[in-house]
Amino acid sequence: MAISQDLLEILACPACKAKVELKPDGSGLKCVECRRVYPIRDDIPVMLVDEATIEDGTEDQQPEKS
Ligand SMILES: [Zn+2]
Repeated sequence: MAISQDLLEILACPACKAKVELKPDGSGLKCVECRRVYPIRDDIPVMLVDEATIEDGTEDQQPEKS
């Protein structure tokens, strides 16, 4: 794994300051709060809001509509 746990612990989402988690496939870092996914390029996380993509929460959570 290119990104160490130590590095993950000091990184934070620049948009909401929440922690980020490495995606299971290692392709990016996902914010636990706003679900932005920051890309990893050449083993370097790109922690820029402009570079982030927003992953919709279709994996395990459906937005509740009332
Ligand atoms: Zn965030």
